Amino acid sequence: MSRMEERADRPRSGAHRASLRKCLNGLKDLVWPRRCILCRKAVGPEGDRVCPDCAAALPKPFSGARRGAHYRRWASAVWYEDPVRASFLRFKFGGCCFYADSYGPWLANAVRQQLGTNYDLITYVPISRLRKRKRGYDQSFLLARETGKLLGQAPICTLKKRSFVKPQSRTLGLEERQRNIRGAFRVINAEAVQGKRILLIDDVLTTGSTVSEASRVLLKAGAKSVDVATLAAAPK
Ligand SMILES: [Zn+2]
Repeated sequence: MSRMEERADRPRSGAHRASLRKCLNGLKDLVWPRRCILCRKAVGPEGDRVCPDCAAALPKPFSGARRGAHYRRWASAVWYEDPVRASFLRFKFGGCCFYADSYGPWLANAVRQQLGTNYDLITYVPISRLRKRKRGYDQSFLLARETGKLLGQAPICTLKKRSFVKPQSRTLGLEERQRNIRGAFRVINAEAVQGKRILLIDDVLTTGSTVSEASRVLLKAGAKSVDVATLAAAPK
């Protein structure tokens, strides 16, 4: 392990304070009053956290033209535009990790309607260990876990992401994204993926570079096929 990685792996009280603050922010939304995860209007004390108006306005799941190589098919639950975008940013960065309970059924529907359920293994595109430590949770794992509950299969962690990969959101264009993500993942348990038809879950699809690279290493490790399901997809 390099000195730089060692430094990054040491606990950081600042990062921990930031995670705690985010969790407390998330808790405010969790406890009272319960708010719609999209428009933030108060919803009833029980049941879905999406108000009837927002639920009626949600798009139907869709599958798109394949944007990256390596994976076979791709489907998404919703488009990555407001109010979903703002909701997702609270989920990913604002401590609202419990939004996964609402997103899971959207993703499971997208899989059932667009891809079918003929999979041997559900896995997900992880964040790096360093980022997970700072954030306190891996949002893709939470999505995969909630989706897996509805599809009757618990997700298995098969990939590890290197730390110090620049976030894809800070890159521009397809080529830079492909270069940035190349080599970012390695398969941590090749035996689990060999010969398997895999459903790979990720949060947001933009150019498809990230899921494409994750699919590439899974196939190289012996997976039979990889289909991708994302919570949201950027319109272009
Ligand atoms: Zn609403």
